[in-house]
Amino acid sequence: MAVWTESEGKRVHDPFYHNFLLAKTDKCIVVDEPVIIGAGPSGLAVAACLKEKGIPSLILERSHCIASLWQLKTYDRLHLHLPKKFCELPLMPYPPGFPTYPTKQQFIAYLEAYAKQYDIKPVFNQMVVSAEYEDGRWRVRTEEGTEYLCKWLVVATGENAEAVIPDIEGLEQYKGKVVHTSAYRSGDMYRGKKVLVVGCGNSGMEVCLDLCNHGAMPSIVVREAVHILPREMFGSSTFGLSVWLLKYLPIQTVDRFLLIMSRLMLGDTSRFGLERPHLGPMELKSVSGKTPVLDVGTLEKIKSGDIKVFPAINHFTKHGAEFIDGRMEEFDAVVLATGYRSNVPFWLKDTEFFSEKDGYPRRPFPNGWKGKQCLYSVGFTKRGLLGASMDATRIAHDIAQCWQVMTKQLNHPSSKLST
Ligand SMILES: Cc1cc2nc3c(=O)[nH]c(=O)nc-3n(C[C@H](O)[C@H](O)[C@H](O)COP(=O)(O)OP(=O)(O)OC[C@H]3O[C@@H](n4cnc5c(N)ncnc54)[C@H](O)[C@@H]3O)c2cc1C
Repeated sequence: MAVWTESEGKRVHDPFYHNFLLAKTDKCIVVDEPVIIGAGPSGLAVAACLKEKGIPSLILERSHCIASLWQLKTYDRLHLHLPKKFCELPLMPYPPGFPTYPTKQQFIAYLEAYAKQYDIKPVFNQMVVSAEYEDGRWRVRTEEGTEYLCKWLVVATGENAEAVIPDIEGLEQYKGKVVHTSAYRSGDMYRGKKVLVVGCGNSGMEVCLDLCNHGAMPSIVVREAVHILPREMFGSSTFGLSVWLLKYLPIQTVDRFLLIMSRLMLGDTSRFGLERPHLGPMELKSVSGKTPVLDVGTLEKIKSGDIKVFPAINHFTKHGAEFIDGRMEEFDAVVLATGYRSNVPFWLKDTEFFSEKDGYPRRPFPNGWKGKQCLYSVGFTKRGLLGASMDATRIAHDIAQCWQVMTKQLNHPSSKLST
């Protein structure tokens, strides 16, 4: 990596194009290798795939560690939602002996071993606040005042970069404790308390179970229809079974099968306030990205009345909430299981590749990994780690083709004479 520290306004040499670029901050660094923004599983996967092809890379990470979502923003009881074989990063299988659904700690250990294996050393505490294409280079600026100039830019900041805090009337006047799931660790501190969990995705359902297991009294807000499926069917994972069936059968047939099995195994969920959407679980996932809930025991607690179900909130009161069916209830605390969003529109000055509306690539999977001007995206497929691994492999292959041509040019004797 070439490094220049210049005062603002000075010129820095660009070894690829043999021209000079204007430094716009005090610390300007020209980077020959691809720059990856984000040291989550996606960023690590791209760096490893590049390394395998002999290409170095530079990762900029806003936090002080790799996989910050997993290390800093997830609850203690978390296991991978999907079986490990669908959550492997390229080039490195899980160690023998890992369970089918590794714990969060096991997953983090796997990622740390992955980074070590490929000698990936991100630059930490670098929060990217803008990236703009200018004169054949991406100009990447961080909040910490450094400017990186690079040819290849890989966006790996994740679908879950920022917590979504819903705009519900009265939330600001509610006096109890309010946390987003990204700040929830365990039900331990809620023992004996009435807690309202807003949102019924996988996280909301699991947090309710955790609260129950720690002697709290949780209620869950179910605003929209939701598919709840057993995590396993016939001794194998429902996800794995669905993927296998989809190879041979139309999606509607797979959905019919999943719904019949769920009805037999879980009963009629609508009896407990959990209506099912009109589209089947797999079709809904493919058209909207909405993931079905894989039940890990929460439904039993709902059936037994240990977890109460409420419809959408009309407004919060000082000590609780009023719901759209007119019921009012007091709560000691609120956990917002209201999801996350991408932060790309806030810093990437390119609206062609990424949509400003949702911060995802405009072109859907499997074509959303490559934009123009050597801009790439990894991990925005709504297909978890499996999708990220597919993106990473493609990106490394694509960059490698260009890298080889450029390094040949750089090493050519005529190029050496001119520098
Ligand atoms: C509770 C939970 C459970 C999940 N379980 C599974 C599962 O079982 N299987 C599965 O496949 N998927 C699961 N997922 C989805 C999961 O988030 C992804 O599969 C995985 O973490 C995606 O990795 P990523 O690197 O794309 O994003 P992230 O893990 O979010 O990593 C992105 C990184 O970019 C950094 N970053 C963001 N913005 C900036 C910036 N401006 N400048 C610098 N750095 C920045 C972040 O700090 C972060 O470290 C789960 C998600 C959650 C929330």
